[in-house]
Amino acid sequence: MSTNNKLLFLPGDGIGPEIMTQVWRVIDWMDKRRSVTFDITQGLIGGAAIDETGVPLPDETLEAAHAADAILMGAVGGPKWEVLPFEVQPERGLLGIRKELGLFANLRPAIVFDALADASTLKLDIVKGLDIMIIRELTGGIYFGEPRGIEDMDGGDRRGFNTLTYTTPEIQRIGRVAMDLAGKRNKRVCSIDKANVLEATVMWREEMVKVGEAYPEIELTHMYVDNAAMQLVRNPKQFDVIVTTNMFGDILSDCAAMLTGSLGMLPSASLGLSDERGRQSALYEPVHGSAPDISGQGIANPLAQILSFSMLLRYSFDMFKDADFVDQAVQNVLNLGLRTSDIMGEGMTRVSTSGMGDAIINELDKLAA
Ligand code: NAD
Repeated sequence: MSTNNKLLFLPGDGIGPEIMTQVWRVIDWMDKRRSVTFDITQGLIGGAAIDETGVPLPDETLEAAHAADAILMGAVGGPKWEVLPFEVQPERGLLGIRKELGLFANLRPAIVFDALADASTLKLDIVKGLDIMIIRELTGGIYFGEPRGIEDMDGGDRRGFNTLTYTTPEIQRIGRVAMDLAGKRNKRVCSIDKANVLEATVMWREEMVKVGEAYPEIELTHMYVDNAAMQLVRNPKQFDVIVTTNMFGDILSDCAAMLTGSLGMLPSASLGLSDERGRQSALYEPVHGSAPDISGQGIANPLAQILSFSMLLRYSFDMFKDADFVDQAVQNVLNLGLRTSDIMGEGMTRVSTSGMGDAIINELDKLAA
């Protein structure tokens, strides 16, 4: 029945606002057909925020983020802002909000939809039915470790350096996210490290083993990252839940994304710490960027954004039935042969961003009938 779930929408830059519009339509549909009411605030982030306020993450957005039960973001960035100093570029807004909300767990599903299986560059039998979840540690590791920088050396040469660091709590909390999620899936977790070379990941492996002891029903395995990269391409279906460090997760999740052959289809969730009410902070966004090359043309694929919204329903509000509705509508639309340009194939019907939105609403109507 009616709830008052507080959402913050951050459409961002490029195609962000275009694909977010299609989510608004799904929300209107839910409002009318399923009596679910959201209290939605819209805010600025990235280049859009720089243009308006001079900074990529205004205080107002941060305040709204803290007040929200969940955040749905589009994407940030574009050539217009690439000339700015590194510290004030749009991507700083995204890193900033992740850090501020303590979003330490990045969930990236790599799902191959049957209707799109032939879009992968890999053979059909390798990817058909693929459904894996990569959990990337998001607020620690080498992307945030200190000291970092570039310094001058004697003789005019320079030295660039970053630090890979992890603490016990950082590893244990991401380990628990992986185990809990695996409990709702196929009860298998593969932790990925480079424990043959990097001390910080020797500790990562040791701490994962400790976390695993509290979950005897979950099978925990370990793999070196170089082997994992190879296995992801050789036989990706051997994995179910993968948990790994910030940098390894960044690379492996992009690799897994390409197994699906369609960047415009991939949602993600970033989960954080729980507040005193037990509410876990959460930000949902498509995996792809702001696609400046196609922005404003009405041809962007809105499905990753819509699937990010379905993850929001599932993980932040336990609205499983509504999330299933949305996921099923996406499957049905693909089965009908409707495709935006990025996933276009022979014999399929090309649709625009809003045409895809029309089709989703149509399918939702049919599912609810
Ligand atoms: P991108 O994901 O924006 O685009 C890569 C290619 O995929 C482009 O050809 C684009 O047209 C296409 N594409 C992406 N999403 C699509 C969609 N929904 N429908 C149809 N086609 C789609 O990556 P990029 O080109 O490397 O980066 C562009 C900008 O986005 C940069 O400023 C980058 O920093 C930023 N970026 C932001 C995020 C984020 O906000 N989370 C993530 C990645 C890149």
